[in-house]
Amino acid sequence: VKLAVLKETRANERRVALVPVVADKLNKLGLELSLQAGAGEAVKLADSAYKNVHAIANPQGMVGDADIVCSVQPPSLEVVEAMKEGAILLSFVYAHKEVELVKKLRDKKITSFAMELVPRITRAQAMDALSSQAALAGYYAALMGATHLARILPMMTTAVGSIRPAKCLVMGLGVAGLQALATARRLGAMTEGYDVRPETKEQAESLGAKFVDTGVDARGTGGYARELTQEEKDKIAAVVTKHIQSADIIITTAAIPGRPSPKLISKAQVDGMKAGAVIIDLAAEGGGNTEYTVPGETVQVGQVSVVGPLNVPSMLGEHASELYAKNQLNLIELFIKDKAINIDWSDEVLAKACLTHAGEIKNEAAKKAVE
Ligand code: NAD
Repeated sequence: VKLAVLKETRANERRVALVPVVADKLNKLGLELSLQAGAGEAVKLADSAYKNVHAIANPQGMVGDADIVCSVQPPSLEVVEAMKEGAILLSFVYAHKEVELVKKLRDKKITSFAMELVPRITRAQAMDALSSQAALAGYYAALMGATHLARILPMMTTAVGSIRPAKCLVMGLGVAGLQALATARRLGAMTEGYDVRPETKEQAESLGAKFVDTGVDARGTGGYARELTQEEKDKIAAVVTKHIQSADIIITTAAIPGRPSPKLISKAQVDGMKAGAVIIDLAAEGGGNTEYTVPGETVQVGQVSVVGPLNVPSMLGEHASELYAKNQLNLIELFIKDKAINIDWSDEVLAKACLTHAGEIKNEAAKKAVE
């Protein structure tokens, strides 16, 4: 079985889908590996750092020969066109944004496993790239917040008096938000967390944070949140505004599957913030959690900075690549048996992660978006 790894070409992308330790494990599974030349450059991995992996310059030539193709971002239409009919693709796809690509995958009869479709169940945790990447993003958001301030985070007692700790409010306590809370706390900040799923109270408190209780319960399906009604939004604003106004750092991470990012912070709320405060909006990719967010930019609103970083996991490319490659390895191990491809469609993880197979779109939401 031949496995090929693409070099990432999209803007802001500094990850690679294969790292040397994972290459060794794939070799042990009996796979023959090739890597598009220079694929690891963004994370300082020369082609020679990969043992027993062929470096190949031409991506089309490389994938034309491969049974399995791996990447982080969705591949180009040209690459999919060059793939063998019936071959397997593993990458993020985000079907609703990649309609032409999904059609091409369907028509070329590619078996595609979309990393964002891996189910959020206990058994699939080791394959869950959304979580591994979100954890890194949450960590980095806290560091970005810290370096944007002209203040320190911890309490400090000095010969000329003591400095009060900074306050960090995290809004949206999924994987990224909890990691942001933990990191800000380790840096010495006083932390507060807020979410519309009540079960996050205990999770925030176990990380030493105070939970901002708004009394709103917007649990949706599958552990995700649902959209809020206007009445709920008003109820939340009445409680949350004073926490927004006393924060030095706000980190927002709120997302609702398949919907634009909910606006958690209005213009008026930003206008009322402390001078010198900063918002790190991890939801910038989906439009942002504040009314001021501009994806990819830092907006100065009076004395407040609103930072809308894109592809934050890529800023930690080395570890992001390592965790991502391990997520893919664990998924590949599910369908390689005795050195051959053998997909068990009764396996929930494979069945749910599958986007296209044998000329059909298997995911219902993607099918609706495309057909
Ligand atoms: P996400 O990226 O979809 O959203 C981030 C957070 O934003 C969520 O906690 C959500 O509740 C919150 N949010 C949405 N709208 C909001 C609003 N208006 N105000 C405040 N907060 C709002 O979340 P995620 O990190 O992908 O995690 C989603 C869920 O999946 C969580 O319950 C998590 O524990 C669960 N999960 C389970 C597994 C597993 O069991 N294998 C793995 C990963 C995540």
